[in-house]
Parts: sequence; C-alpha cells; structure tokens
Amino acid sequence: MTFKKVKDTRHKEQVAEKVKGKGQRDQGTRINAQNSVHACLISLLFLLVIYLADMKRVYLKKKIANRIANGHPWIFANEVQKVDDGVNAGDIIEVYFGNGKFAGKGYINPKSQIIVRLLTRNKEIEINEQFFIDRIAECWKYRKKTGYIENCRLVFGEADEMPQLIIDKFNDYFVIQTLALGIDLWKPACVKAINQIFKPKGIYERNDVPVRELEGLSQQKGFLSEPFDTRIIINENGLKFNVDLENGQKTGYFLDQQDNRRAIQNIVKDADVIGAFTYTGTFEIHAAHYGARSVLGIDISENAIEQANQNAKLNGLQNIVRFETANAFDVLKQWSRDRRQCDVVMLDPPAFTKSRETIQKAITGYKEINLRGMKLLRPGGFLVTSSCTSLVSPELFLQIIDMAAKDARRKIRQVVFQTQSSDHPIIRGIENTQYLKFLIVEVQ
Ligand code: SAH
Repeated sequence: MTFKKVKDTRHKEQVAEKVKGKGQRDQGTRINAQNSVHACLISLLFLLVIYLADMKRVYLKKKIANRIANGHPWIFANEVQKVDDGVNAGDIIEVYFGNGKFAGKGYINPKSQIIVRLLTRNKEIEINEQFFIDRIAECWKYRKKTGYIENCRLVFGEADEMPQLIIDKFNDYFVIQTLALGIDLWKPACVKAINQIFKPKGIYERNDVPVRELEGLSQQKGFLSEPFDTRIIINENGLKFNVDLENGQKTGYFLDQQDNRRAIQNIVKDADVIGAFTYTGTFEIHAAHYGARSVLGIDISENAIEQANQNAKLNGLQNIVRFETANAFDVLKQWSRDRRQCDVVMLDPPAFTKSRETIQKAITGYKEINLRGMKLLRPGGFLVTSSCTSLVSPELFLQIIDMAAKDARRKIRQVVFQTQSSDHPIIRGIENTQYLKFLIVEVQ
C-alpha cells in the first residue's frame, strides 16, 4: 500500500510537471487557465484514487440474516468473514456482502460486539466533516417540517442514520451524546454543525452514560461551547419547566413525552390526580394546568421532587399540585390497601430492563404498578400509563395491561394508544427506534 502511494504521488508529480511545461509554452491566458483547471482536476482525481484505495474493507459472511440488506445499520462481529489488515478502532470503512456487493460505509470498533455501524449505503458519499454538517441540517429540516422547532430531539441516532448520536435541542441550548467510539471521534464535526446552523447560546456534552464503557470510552460531561448557566427554562404546551442540563436525568428532560402530555387535556378536568414516577413534575403540572382539582406527584429522587416543586411555583400552580418523595412500588401498594380513591392515575416509570434475560422481571413490574394503579381509580376513572422499555413491544404492553385489569377485576376501554413524539422517528425493522408506549384507558 505504501509503495502504491509513492508510485501514485510520483505519477501525479509527473503529470503536474507536464502540465506546467505546457503552460509555459502557451502564451494565451485563456489556455493557461484551462490548463490549470485540468491540472487541478487530474490532481483531485489522483487524490481520490489514493483515498479510495486507502479505505479499508470489511467482508460479511455469505450466510447472514437479511437484516443488513434490509436497512439495519448494525453489523455484529459474528457476521463478519474478514477485516482488512491495519484497521484502527473508529476508522471509516467500507462493508461488502458475501457476494461482493457494496453494503455501505460506516465506523468500526473491533473491540465492540457491534463491530460496524453504517452511516451510509451510498458508495459515492464521503464521510467527512461536511457529511455531518449536511446530515444535521437534514435532521433540522425534518423537525421543522413536522413542527418540532423550539425543543426537539434534533438527532435520534439510528433513525437519522447517525448511529449512537443523540442531540437534543432546548431552544438555544444543545445537549450531545456520542455513545460509540466511531461517532465520538466526529463530536467536533457535530459541534461545528450546530454552531453553523443555529448560532447556539450553549452546547453541553452528557456522555455520563455507562454504555460508552462497552466501547472503551470514558463517561464524561462538560461544555462544548463557552461555559453557560446549565439551569435553563423551556416552554412546552404553554407551560414553563426548569431543565438542569448538567445534572438532570439523561439529557435533562424527557422530550419524547411532549405530545403525550397534551393527550391528558380532557380527562383531568375537575379530577383528583395521582402521578407516580413524576421526575420534574411535567405530567402533573400539565394536569393542574388543564383543570384538575388536586394533583399529587411522587418520585424516588429528592432532586427531582425539588425541581418538580420549583416547576409548580414557576407556573403558579403550587396550590393545586404537590410533590412528595416516595418509592412508587411501596406507596401504590399501601394506598390500594388503604382503599384510597382518585379519578386519574398516571404512571411513567424508567425502563425496567435492557436485556432479554430479565424481560420477565419487567413484565412483572409493569403488571404490578398498573394493577395497583387501577385499584386506586373510582369507576369511570382513567389510567394514563407509559413504558419506555424497548424490549416490551406495543402488543406485549397491551397484554400486560389486560392481565392487570383482569387481576384487578376491572373492565377497561382504550382511549388513546400512541408512541413517542415524531421528533423521535421510527424505522420499522430497527427495533430500538420504537420504544415508547403511551396508553390511556378508562377503567370501569
Ligand atoms: N414522567 C417524567 C419522566 C419520568 S422518568 C417526565 O415526563 O418528565 C422516571 C422517573 O422514575 C425518574 O424520575 C426516577 O427518579 C423515577 N423512579 C425510578 N424508580 C422509582 C421508584 N421505585 N419510585 C418512584 N420513582 C421512581
């Protein structure tokens, strides 16, 4: 390879010499200009040849599932037949199917179980800084078209063909997560793209995520712009919420529920509402805003409850909604034993599992809280229930709710069943892109 490079470079010099000599003989400036254009084009062509010759390749086994051909961007180590020598972790490489056909370009990490994640299926597209600027501009275009302008998930990883990259936009502030080595190396390009497209007031990195360790990356967080006050206030559905970009959960705020929070608008009127897993009180404050008589929100995190109380004050709703620190599993059980009654119960727990081995535990957890929740409801009340465990399919979630209703001896009617907001687009066949289930049932 080194020899080829030297040979190519020499050839290039010879061509350049020839062009230079010809240029000196010609007197007309027009011919001179033409010649320099030709020289430039030839040099570029040679550089391209060198670049392409340099790109390392990964060859897939002949017999692999159709997953990759059907658009899934992940390539597992056991699907690979051969990797060119000299590949470094994080390199952009080309992938070829067992039959020699081009599969795509992406980044490689030989240490990871998911050895390659594809960024494009187009052989002509170069993966460079401009690629990320263009892609992020495309993402912004999609969000604007679908009506997510002020706050949105600007980049949703695999669903935006940028595996393991998350960028949340909170008005003028941006939070980035780069969850694999190959994408982490392009963090500066992503920052440049945000700066060019948005002229932001601040960019913050929330890479304090354990999954990075599987890629040999450290957990870290900090400024990717000039330092700024990371406690910001955002607007959502006419309400205001404090968001702590530095210490809040995940990227600070759960944007995926922004449409679902509006879905409770009618059912909470004049209702006594209990919300568990409240975090910073978003659903509960919406309930108060939409006309609930009383609202109680609980969460296990004291920090979250402190923020939730601040948010209630920020919206002048502190007389209707109050928050308490408690373990939802314990209090839901206790309250149903005490035969406490209310009109609306809202549940939005964290993901119960990320692995198939413990899926049964997750099913039991969902059944338990939903059963307790239903028992608290007066006849004709509403259960508002969510699941963000991506391994629990929408069908499975509905089955769990049916089981809970049966055990609670209550009849239910589905009012609303939806998913995450459209700034988190779903690609059929890429499982993790559809993860949120949001259900409202009337409980008789
Ligand atoms: N509904 C919120 C998001 C909830 S995230 C929103 O839309 O913003 C899940 C929350 O559940 C987290 O705040 C976490 O602290 C809380 N949590 C986790 N385990 C809990 C438990 N056992 N009891 C109560 N809260 C719990």
